[in-house]
Amino acid sequence: MDCFDIAVVGSGPGAAFAAYGARGRSILMLDAGGDAPPCPELRGNAYELRQGADDLFPALIGEHFESLRNLNQPAISLKLKSPYMSYVARDWRRIAPIASQGFEGAIALSKGGLANAWGAGVYRFNAADLAGFPVSSEDLRPFYDEAGAHIGISGAQDDLEPHFGRDEDLQPPLRLSAFFADFLSRYEKRRPLFRRERAAIGRPRLAVLTQPHHGRSAYEYGNLEFFRPHDPAIYTPAFTIDEMIRGGGIDYRGARLVTRFQEMDERVEIRARNLATGAEEIHRARQLLLGAGALNTARIALESNSDFETRLPVLDNPMACIPFFQLSRVGEALAAKDTSLAQLNLVMEDEESGEPVQASLYGTTGPLRSDILFSLPLSIRANLAWTKYLAPAMGLLMLFYPGRANASSYVRLRPSGELEAEFAPEPPHAVERRVIRLLRKMGYVTHPALIQRPGSGAGLHFAGTLPMRTRPARYETDSTGRLWGTRRAFVVDGACFSRLPAKNLTFTIMANALRIGRLRATEFE
Ligand SMILES: Cc1cc2nc3c(=O)[nH]c(=O)nc-3n(C[C@H](O)[C@H](O)[C@H](O)COP(=O)(O)OP(=O)(O)OC[C@H]3O[C@@H](n4cnc5c(N)ncnc54)[C@H](O)[C@@H]3O)c2cc1C
Repeated sequence: MDCFDIAVVGSGPGAAFAAYGARGRSILMLDAGGDAPPCPELRGNAYELRQGADDLFPALIGEHFESLRNLNQPAISLKLKSPYMSYVARDWRRIAPIASQGFEGAIALSKGGLANAWGAGVYRFNAADLAGFPVSSEDLRPFYDEAGAHIGISGAQDDLEPHFGRDEDLQPPLRLSAFFADFLSRYEKRRPLFRRERAAIGRPRLAVLTQPHHGRSAYEYGNLEFFRPHDPAIYTPAFTIDEMIRGGGIDYRGARLVTRFQEMDERVEIRARNLATGAEEIHRARQLLLGAGALNTARIALESNSDFETRLPVLDNPMACIPFFQLSRVGEALAAKDTSLAQLNLVMEDEESGEPVQASLYGTTGPLRSDILFSLPLSIRANLAWTKYLAPAMGLLMLFYPGRANASSYVRLRPSGELEAEFAPEPPHAVERRVIRLLRKMGYVTHPALIQRPGSGAGLHFAGTLPMRTRPARYETDSTGRLWGTRRAFVVDGACFSRLPAKNLTFTIMANALRIGRLRATEFE
């Protein structure tokens, strides 16, 4: 049997960029996932499709009412449930089960990982964000630059530059909806107020093209992000993997669930279950790069030691979702060309922790009305009218807190194969009321009673299960991602994060994985 130079587990952002960094070596990619289904009927634009197509029920709701699943089943992200998007995390409860109280996260089992459904917000960690990491922003800078040039990033240098950093190669930002163009001009008139509150607003940095880039076309405002995978303008690691497969740079094997690994003298043996045949397989490589997502990478590390006792730390960004309304827009016509991607970001210093919190601001025309309907306080009939007339007048501010390590947030493997994953709930913080005060001063209607708090793991920013340390101990990694006690096993996903600021983590997963993949490739030179 072949012994590859490098075996990469997974195909999400961590795995894909590790493989991309190790280009030129013989690379085996073992991925539990499958690929996106074709969906020819969802071409074009949500608004026009709804007006013109005969029957969109199978594509938008699904023959088995897939899009309505949150009404009677444990809630999952609205992005992971429609008929063509559910493949991203299909069958994870059976194949990679989590035992948890009210877990609202998901495990990706797909080529490209959770980043097939992501919001594509890409942010560099600065020195403060990386405090506690054994790598600096200078170490990561060339890898952020290379990853950014590969994926293409749109955005602007604006009031958030001190927080997001300067990026000379940004494509122009997405066009704002009328609601958020107005929001931005209200902010611009109140800058001094925001400055006093140590808050600022600006355009998000998105891995979404507004100009053609590397054979991919620009975003066309189809507003189908909740329903259609693989919009060419929105980066997914599946694009990079497909490019590497086409170029012969990688041996990609899907439907392979890696369960454990064992180090031998000159190689690593990797055990995987072929999900198509049920057969147990052994694969061989000189080095192993683990990128199965922070939860599943932890599961593989624990399983490889048959360890059913140890509790590993786990991080996620707790969220608070704050709806707000501009009453003068009630009943306004919906825009034909819109987006459900983030329109703006807010960054504000949290006085309690002294750390910034970050929020993404969205319109509400992307998801189904039924996703919002049942969280409103009136009768069903009144809520129906509310969602119809209020949609053009409503914005949603999704506030992310830093992930905090504590004894109640942990993962542990059970002998049954289930991974216990508990995330301590985040209590409300004063910063939420400060945000609400600012929104009101801008002329929007909102109230603390409207705040929604998604449940355990709903941030889907999993990290920190096998953290990088300067002097690593058991179940920790060194600055090269090497897992303590191993010579040939390296962690390339969010599992190796030393901490989790309130800033979306995936661009840092990519840059760090690229760095580790490149380092591993040079080992053979
Ligand atoms: C709705 C949504 C919105 C998001 N928005 C943003 C955003 O705007 N910005 C941001 O930074 N992040 C965002 N995220 C989070 C982002 O998608 C994740 O941080 C990122 O995908 C994690 O990358 P990863 O490589 O660590 O793992 P994953 O993306 O989880 O990928 C894991 C990979 O490993 C494979 N795999 C799993 N287990 C095994 C196994 N045992 N054997 C073999 N293969 C395995 C899977 O098939 C998958 O390919 C969002 C996520 C979601 C769902």
